[in-house]
Amino acid sequence: MFRKLMTFDEAKNAISLHLKPKPLGEEELSLLEAYNRVLQGDIFSALDIPPFTRSTVDGYAVKAEDTFGAEENQPVTLNVKGVVNVGEQPRISVGRGEAAEIVTGAPIPDGADAVVMVEDTEKENGGLRVYRAVTKNENVMKKATDIKKGEAVLKARQVLGAPEIGVLAALGITKVKVFRVPVVAVLSTGAEVTELGKKLPPGKIYDINAYSLSAAVRESGGKSVYLGVVPDDSAELRKALEHALASADMVLTSGGVSVGPKDLTPQIVDSLGKPGLFVSGIAVKPGKPTNIALIGKKPVFSLPGHPTSALLMFHLLASPVIRIMAGRPATEVTMAKAKAGARMFSAKGRRTFVMVNLKRDKAKQLIAEPVETGASGAITTLAKADGFVEIPENQQFIDAGEEVTVVLLKNVA
Ligand code: AMP
Ligand code: MG
Repeated sequence: MFRKLMTFDEAKNAISLHLKPKPLGEEELSLLEAYNRVLQGDIFSALDIPPFTRSTVDGYAVKAEDTFGAEENQPVTLNVKGVVNVGEQPRISVGRGEAAEIVTGAPIPDGADAVVMVEDTEKENGGLRVYRAVTKNENVMKKATDIKKGEAVLKARQVLGAPEIGVLAALGITKVKVFRVPVVAVLSTGAEVTELGKKLPPGKIYDINAYSLSAAVRESGGKSVYLGVVPDDSAELRKALEHALASADMVLTSGGVSVGPKDLTPQIVDSLGKPGLFVSGIAVKPGKPTNIALIGKKPVFSLPGHPTSALLMFHLLASPVIRIMAGRPATEVTMAKAKAGARMFSAKGRRTFVMVNLKRDKAKQLIAEPVETGASGAITTLAKADGFVEIPENQQFIDAGEEVTVVLLKNVA
């Protein structure tokens, strides 16, 4: 099966060449459903925000110049003309020597150009004593200073987080066009692999990959559909894969890709349609038995069974495809420069990914320590790692103390 191992770079090129990933299309959602979705087009404002000039404090709307010279021991006295409430057009205007009581968020009445805070005033005998001068526009938010009518407030491809949803709400937009979320069918293979919720008989293990991969699909902007565990049986695998292809935009399998007699996944995937398998094994460690196919228009990633290998290969190769299908940037890689805390060895002729923990030494320098259990079967390897260091094919090791680039898998403070 692995006669012609592709290099890691060849595999990445083959993915762009064969899959040519692009966004799947758009759908319109109500604003309440749009959180964490990707905007399909620019959003222009049809309104000025705020729509009117308003007060930012509770106090008195005044002509600023009427307060000039007011001080703690030398107040200015003004006539209170009436009240301006929120949610209504002011029915009064402010002339020389006058003030209008106003609350936060209420429109500034004609004639006024500043607001004195209530804390800086005192009411006496129907008059208002002002103990502090204000400048023009003080405590006033002018119309359209937040958003101008016609302005592009959000850009296509922006992810709608809480603040962006707030901006759309300010504009009264109830529906938004977003990219469709790629649906990814996830299935596991192997007679030993047991669905969660069932008893674990001797010789069996729980299905890790379907869960970690489903979470990773979601992190990449996709929606996963768990199709369960399929035994290593040609007919059952074929049936499950056909169902997966019919019900999703992409398929992820794990296990059944090694060279054992029960490792049937790649051949069966290849037989399901054209153009078929285009990556059969990659010169990497971990993750060598990774297979990738295109069946009709649907990518199928057959990942290794070892949980760490499966998740790492997903992260490196499948995640960018899902992200592009979802309208997101292919990667959101963050990296850190660190010093190798120990010698890190590569696998001969293979691109090697060494899982590392980041620590700081006394001089606050970042140190990348290889995560102890190197076995790609241990799920805890990835869970313990802050990121990984990549060793090129032609390099035997990275020496302790050398500077390395760590691709971060987590946010590291
Ligand atoms: P395979 O590629 O099927 O030979 O699997 C390689 C190793 O990964 C074996 O030890 C399997 O038991 C293990 N494995 C395969 N699938 C899963 C899974 N879904 N969850 C946890 N371990 C798995
Ligand atoms: Mg297996």
